Amino acid sequence: LLGSPVAHARSPQLHQAAYAQGGQRWHFERRGVVPERLEAALAELVGPNLLGVNLTLPLKEVAFSHCSPSAEASSIGAINCLRWNGQHWEGHNSDGQGWLDSFHEELGTTIGGRKVLVLGAGGACRAILHKVRQQQPASLVLFNRTPERARALLQEGERVADWSEFGDELAPHCLVIQTTSVGMWPHQDQVAVEWPDSLPSGVIASDLVYNPSPTLWLQQASERGARTLDGCGMLVHQAVRAIEWWTGLKPKSAPMRAALLASLR
Ligand code: NAP
Repeated sequence: LLGSPVAHARSPQLHQAAYAQGGQRWHFERRGVVPERLEAALAELVGPNLLGVNLTLPLKEVAFSHCSPSAEASSIGAINCLRWNGQHWEGHNSDGQGWLDSFHEELGTTIGGRKVLVLGAGGACRAILHKVRQQQPASLVLFNRTPERARALLQEGERVADWSEFGDELAPHCLVIQTTSVGMWPHQDQVAVEWPDSLPSGVIASDLVYNPSPTLWLQQASERGARTLDGCGMLVHQAVRAIEWWTGLKPKSAPMRAALLASLR
């Protein structure tokens, strides 16, 4: 894993829990790398034993200069994994698919036809939007602290709303996806937006933040009767997809999730 030295501190435990299922033939480690050093860092890693690299902030966009990206990574505008094919680097993004896999696995329902509210407009949000749009939601509304960033992401039929309209935008069976970094440790007492006291029936709340799991925002949704999806599943499943792409092994998610939760305690 290359990127900010403070990001995704738990990824090695998560990955080793996957490699243990394949006879522990692989090893995963983190290295702090700034964007200006990415090219040199990748060159140092290349060798007969290298399978691939995970990327995190702030390298997900600059990576386009160093690889041939998949169609999905290009649509999202971010790369979170690279594969060395012996000659050059291939770039891909497994974040959106990881979130969708976790949604299906944990909630056992579908997105098509639901109204979807998305909080945020950063890199993770772009991956989520790409996947959600493919599921044909009934409508899509974005909220962001900097509304112009959200407006820049809009596609036909979608709109940006003000935080003050959040309660009014909730609808029966809607899906609310929290993609901002608000509520993340050590600011776990903050919420991106307050829930109204009572919710329409069948609301689903998903928070990408996984430390803590669940976040305060997700706990408040649960107390009001919403079904919830924490960020651990997305972290696990983006790794499952990356590992499958690198090794051909499709690891079981349950031991990976257990290792992640143990590392978060
Ligand atoms: P990013 O590109 O930096 O975007 C950050 C987003 O959070 C922006 O919408 C930003 O709003 C908003 N934000 C930040 N601080 C805020 C504040 N104090 N008040 C209101 N809004 C605020 O980050 P990212 O890569 O999208 O990541 C966002 C979160 O998703 C992080 O917590 C990350 O850990 C999590 N994530 C989880 C997974 C997973 O596997 N579970 C994967 C990827 C990311 P502005 O546009 O106004 O700045």
